[in-house]
This record gives sequence, C-alpha cells and structure tokens, in this order.
Amino acid sequence: RDLPADPDTGPGIRQVHGALYSRVAPTPVAAPRLLAHSAEMARRLGFSEADVASPQFAEVFAGNALMAGMEPFAANYGGHQFGNWAGQLGDGRAISLGEIINAVGERWELQLKGAGPTPYSRSADGRAVLRSSIREFLCSEAMHHLGVPTTRALSLVGTGEWVERDMFYDGHPELEHGAIVCRVAPSFIRFGNFELPASRDDVELLRQLVNFCIRRDFPELRGQGQALYAQWFAQVCERTAVMVAHWMRVGFVHGVMNTDNMSILGLTIDYGPYGWVDNFDPGWTPNTTDRHHRRYRFGQQPQVAYWNLGRLAGSLSLLFDGVEPLQDGLRRFVETYTAADRDNVARKLGLDECRDEDVGLMQALQDLMTEAEVDMTLFFRGLADLDIDTLDPAPLREAFYDETRREAAAPALQEWLGRYALRLRDQAVPASERRARMNAANPRYVLRNYLAQQAIDRATEGDFSGVAELLDVMRHPYDEQPGREAFAARRPDWARERAGCSMLSCSS
Ligand code: AMP
Ligand code: MG
Ligand code: MG
Repeated sequence: RDLPADPDTGPGIRQVHGALYSRVAPTPVAAPRLLAHSAEMARRLGFSEADVASPQFAEVFAGNALMAGMEPFAANYGGHQFGNWAGQLGDGRAISLGEIINAVGERWELQLKGAGPTPYSRSADGRAVLRSSIREFLCSEAMHHLGVPTTRALSLVGTGEWVERDMFYDGHPELEHGAIVCRVAPSFIRFGNFELPASRDDVELLRQLVNFCIRRDFPELRGQGQALYAQWFAQVCERTAVMVAHWMRVGFVHGVMNTDNMSILGLTIDYGPYGWVDNFDPGWTPNTTDRHHRRYRFGQQPQVAYWNLGRLAGSLSLLFDGVEPLQDGLRRFVETYTAADRDNVARKLGLDECRDEDVGLMQALQDLMTEAEVDMTLFFRGLADLDIDTLDPAPLREAFYDETRREAAAPALQEWLGRYALRLRDQAVPASERRARMNAANPRYVLRNYLAQQAIDRATEGDFSGVAELLDVMRHPYDEQPGREAFAARRPDWARERAGCSMLSCSS
C-alpha cells in the first residue's frame, strides 16, 4: 500500500506503509559491459565461465534483462543514522533480482546495486559510480577470503552511462562512469527492516518479518513464540559480535555503521566509505562525513555494534512481554565479543591461550603502535619472524612510518619484546608453529586504501587489469606471494592525505 507523500518529510519521500518491499524493475542502461567478476562466486552459483562471458550475462547483471523466475524488488527499511532515527530509507539504489538455489542446496539472493531508481530513491538517482562500485566489488571478495563474514560480489558491470556526483561537496558536480555491482548473500535483511514497522507501531508487519526471517535464514532454531524470538535475537547478537571481532583482527573500519547497514545475519554489508587501518590508530575513521565526531572510528566499532543491537532490541520489544530476554541477548553480545577479542589476542600474538595478563600485553602493544605510527599489518607479520633469543627488531623495521618516531619508541619496543619473549618461553609451542599460527590470523595482504585507489585510477582510464590483479592478490591474503611484495607495502607518503587513499566521502 503506497500512501501519498508525507508532508512532514519533504518532497520526493514517498512513505510506504504496510509493506516490507516494493516490486520494481531495474532501469536498462545504454551499453552494459562486464568489467570484472568473481570466478568463485560465479561457480558457486552454477554459472560456467562461458555463461559469464556471454552477452546475456552482462545484460542481466546490468539490469537490462531478467532471467526466468526473477521478480525484482526493493526492500523497505528505516534506520538510525549517526545516532539519530532517520525514518524510512529503503533500497534507494539496490534491487534484488531473486534467489538462486544452487546444486548443493545453498540459497543465494542476487541484488543489483546502482540499477536505477526505486520507490525509496527520494531525490537521488538510484545509480552508482565506477569508483565506489570497484571498492564494493573488491572489498566484498577480499573480506570473504580473509575469513570475515560478508556479503559477496558476483560481477562488476559498466553501464556506458555517466553519473553526476559532487564528490567533494563543493557545489561542483562532475560526471563519472556509472557501474553496477551484483552482490550476493543468503539475505540482505538489515536491522532497519525491523526498526521501520516497529517505529510505526505496525506489530503485525514486524511479526511477519521476524517469522519470515527466522524460518528462512535461521531454520536451525527450534521452539516458538517469545522463546524462539529470544533465541533468534541472541543469535543475531552473537553473529554481530563475531563479525566485529574479525574487523578488529584484520584492521577493517566500516565507516557507516548505521542500523540500516547492519545485516541480520552478521555479515559485513554496504561497502561505502570504509577503510583499512594502515598505521594502527583506534581513533581513525575513513569517512570524511564523520571526521569531527568520529562515531564510527576503528576502536569504537564493538561499542557501536552493541548500541545498534540495542536499537534492534527496542524494536523487537513490541513482540515481548518483558525486556529480560532481550537483555540476555545483549549480554550474549558482550560475552561473545569478549571471548572473540581474547581469541584475537592469542591468535595474533601466537599464544597457546589468552591469559588475563595477555590482554594487558596486547593493550601495551597497541598503545605503542599508536604512539609510534606503526603499520598494523606489517607489524604482526614481522612479529611472527621475531627471534626470541636475540630480540632483534629488524623484522619490524618496515612497519614504521616515521624514522624519528621509530627511534623514539625503540626502548619501549625493546622492553615490550622482552615481555613478549618471556610469555612465549612460558608455553610449549615451537617457534615454527607459533609463526604458522600467527600468519593464519594476521594477513599479509589487505585491501589497502591506496591500492584500491590505484586500481580505480587505472579503471577510470579504461584499464581494468588492475582490478583483476588486486582481486587475485586478495584471494590468498595469508600467503606469501612471490613477485607481489608491492601489494603488501605500507602506504606511500603521497597517499597519506589523498582523497580515496585515506579519507573517503560518502558520495558514491
Ligand atoms: P548508505 O549511507 O549508503 O547506507 O545509504 C543510505 C540511504 O541512501 C539508503 O536508503 C540508500 O539506498 C540511499 N541512497 C544512497 N545513494 C543513493 C542513490 N544514488 N540513489 C538512491 N538512493 C541512494
Ligand atoms: Mg546503506
Ligand atoms: Mg552505501
């Protein structure tokens, strides 16, 4: 049921009441061209390489044609943005094509991002630019190979059309290449899908969605009524905690952890102005829009996830007689996150277990890394090569961004290494095994912001080989890849303050 525009929320904002989604067709584009694809994801969905190479593939994943059985729709959801309730948002530029059940019975939803306007587009165009589409495509797959729960990406298609964006919000929009990513996940339901009907006191619609989500996405849960809902919410809390702990392990900063960007499956979703930590800094945020408050800074992500779960709990409380079951769920988040964080400490440092004093050992290291401007990824890989008899810091040298700071921090580092060596001597793990464990938890290659930007710069000139190569590097992030050392290098000086390389605008 579509009601007329709500006079309180301004022109172009059509309030859709009593519905969880709206049917909408993608808008065809001028000249679809497949620019990149994920071979793993294609195979998993049952597409052969010949399918992928066919003109029909580009047509379908540009939104110009539908395959039999596809019934495209855009989801209706709300959300808390930067701490404030934002009302109805919805898929303004995402259109789900439908679901595929593959040969082994997995169910995958296919969703085009940038395929044209939907009833939720408000005054925006429903399109996406090449730059941000490359970032979403690459990061989805990189995260998957890093072992982080995430939505996936099947394809990146150029539209052959121009899209107008004011990237620097300076009143001078520019024309950019348009592109469409097909993302893939078991479900794209977000916290905000539940928040919207709850905000309108539409308890029946809320209940319908909860029942659907449990039945389709959490079929392993048993029981019924409030007990079932409570179990389900606890599961959501647990999965969210696991996801964020992975982010902290690999140095990923989401950048826009609004509740409409939180997946109910605990998948990383909506790759916008995200970033990767180069020099370790809990205060770092990649999103220029967030540069003053830094709400979504690296070190704050667990707290924000908890806050977001609190908003979801508030919405779900309409289905409960009392708040205790929801409080239990939130406690599950804290327990799961605490355990996962301790697991990160043990795995990243190569310890047999995380003892209470190891938490302090890691904290001291992180303080030192922040103070001395140390590259997170290079440092932990270097640390795996430490000889605990000599404590020679040579393997750590390339992790430092600044010589002066490195020298100033040298005594503190040496002292920390001494503490670490003592701890290692107190466990029966051979050096080679410690190294192997650490290198399985600490990636050699991450999707550094400047690497993505270099691939984007080349793609903008029509050369997509950089995208393919970066995707290929990111397929084996924990392995040494001879000849590809450059992809593991710390951020070069030129990239420090460059747009796209350290700070990103929301314009996409
Ligand atoms: P985001 O900050 O990317 O999560 O987006 C917030 C909301 O804005 C979502 O409802 C999006 O669908 C919508 N949105 C963002 N960009 C566009 C666009 N170019 N056209 C239509 N809707 C958009
Ligand atoms: Mg979003
Ligand atoms: Mg977005």
